[in-house]
Amino acid sequence: MSISTQYKKPDFKSSDLVDKVNIMDINFINLSKQDLLEEHLYPQLLSEEKCFIVTANPEIVMRAREDINYKGNVELADYVVPDGAGVVLASKILKRPIEERIAGFDLMLDLLEFANVQKLSCYLFGAKDYVNERAVLEIKRRYPNLNIVGSEHGYSPHADKIVAEQIKLLQPDIILVALGSPAQENWITDNLHQFAKGVFMGVGGSFDVLAGEVKRAPAIWIKLNMEWLYRLLKQPFRWKRILKAIEFMLRIVLRKF
Ligand code: UDP
Repeated sequence: MSISTQYKKPDFKSSDLVDKVNIMDINFINLSKQDLLEEHLYPQLLSEEKCFIVTANPEIVMRAREDINYKGNVELADYVVPDGAGVVLASKILKRPIEERIAGFDLMLDLLEFANVQKLSCYLFGAKDYVNERAVLEIKRRYPNLNIVGSEHGYSPHADKIVAEQIKLLQPDIILVALGSPAQENWITDNLHQFAKGVFMGVGGSFDVLAGEVKRAPAIWIKLNMEWLYRLLKQPFRWKRILKAIEFMLRIVLRKF
């Protein structure tokens, strides 16, 4: 996939005013989750402003460093959210501390909760066929007033085009894209120019958690910033990804000294 040539960020957006912390050339927002939701995302949902959220961990920062096209796509986001204990630790080492780690999964649930109260609509793109179906059922169970206008799993060959057509037609308020990185951010930036409205968010493996396929770390692990270790223990095949996070931390320390 290439850097989006068609989607241009408008000259001014309210997200431009948010305090940002630059970590290895990625501008992370420096806001608490509550402020991000109440001052930005909820009003944008209500005013039907188009918006693109990237929840970035050290692995995404490293990928952006190595792939200029992907970096360009991340830069098109309105909000790059610090999702990952490593990002927050890096900000502290660089003496520009980020207020709070915002887990993408929690941010997604808060958006769905608000959408449920406001009776808004949502589209779920990505994950395996049965995982997507179960995630739809689980979201319907948790948020009965939320209107799931459509869903499509992430493994059919023409899904990217089919989903874009459906979203153009259905105009959902929230579009969750669970294709993993970089595919989810690339799909959003390749297609965003076609849509009139919507909060677009890459949610990685969140449907797997909603579907009960993957268990999220218990609260104490999350509190101790050890969610990454829990995931590694549960899914040891992810070890290569942890190496990227280690490289990220080493580069931050080198930068510092
Ligand atoms: N996925 C997909 N289509 C693909 C490759 C991956 O829909 O071609 C889905 C995969 O099934 C999983 C998600 O993308 O649900 C990626 O999850 P992962 O745990 O890698 O993401 P993370 O949470 O680490 O960003």
